[in-house]
Amino acid sequence: MDTKIREALKPCGYKVKTVSIAHLPEIQESVATLIRQRLINKRLADKWHFYRTPNTELPEAKTIIIAALPQAVTRLTFTWQGRDYPAEVAPGYFSAADEARAAEILNQVLGDGGYKISKARLPLKTLAVRSGLAKFGKNNLAYVPGMGSFCRLIAFYSDAPCEEDNWQESAAINICEKCTLCLENCPNGNIDAERFLIHAENCLGFLNEIEPDFPYWVQYQPDRLNAFVGCMRCQSACPVNRPYLKNIKAGPSFSEEETALILNKTPWEQLPPESRKKLEDIRGIYPLIACNLSALMGKQRQAGQK
Ligand code: SF4
Ligand code: SF4
Repeated sequence: MDTKIREALKPCGYKVKTVSIAHLPEIQESVATLIRQRLINKRLADKWHFYRTPNTELPEAKTIIIAALPQAVTRLTFTWQGRDYPAEVAPGYFSAADEARAAEILNQVLGDGGYKISKARLPLKTLAVRSGLAKFGKNNLAYVPGMGSFCRLIAFYSDAPCEEDNWQESAAINICEKCTLCLENCPNGNIDAERFLIHAENCLGFLNEIEPDFPYWVQYQPDRLNAFVGCMRCQSACPVNRPYLKNIKAGPSFSEEETALILNKTPWEQLPPESRKKLEDIRGIYPLIACNLSALMGKQRQAGQK
């Protein structure tokens, strides 16, 4: 079955590994341990509460499947006051179509054998590394061969027997031993030479998703803002990602009217259906994007005046 899954996902460029369900407590414990050791703060722990989510959808599961889907940077375009503003979104946000495709393929292959799948809410980077699908970078991102960190991870429970239990110790990419580029390029000094775990609670990507406004250190130093959604700095600096940096796909464009609605923080339900469709992948952070957009436009206008 594992070979069939691998082969079925391959044409889309997706990679996959499996581990036995017996490792579920250890996967969940990985985050719990960090919380107990106070290595991640309460806000981050609250955001990561999903690690406790029990497997109620498919209690008879025997296998956990973890897949990596290659992702590009998505470039959106906003038209405002007669000018077009490109806005890049870090890889992994506009991923709904890939996730749906991966689920469809798995449903088909496993369904043929009489098995089911159910989406698993788990600490995905840990799972990817412990299954051998990825290795950690010094920036704590999961690096998958052939994708670098430009990937979306997704996990499923399945009641199919686990033919290949790939569970293993965590590993880091070798090149990190002699490299400090992500550490030097992080705008907030989140990557710590003294410990493996980055200070993710100060990560711009994380703050971008939870803060109603930018923290003061971004407001006063707009140069730290390097993506419309998420943060790209440590990924862009990383030599392992070099082959994938030019992989930019055109995302939706937004007219003057749509841009005005977004900048005015129009409630999601009051947006025209076509605008909602374009923003569906980042719906969860929609209330926060007006702030990002106006900061990005200001930065681009400033750069144009120089
Ligand atoms: S995502 Fe940005 S803020 Fe977070 S560690 Fe990387 S460079 Fe630093
Ligand atoms: S930039 Fe260097 S140290 Fe950082 S993850 Fe990439 S290879 Fe490792």
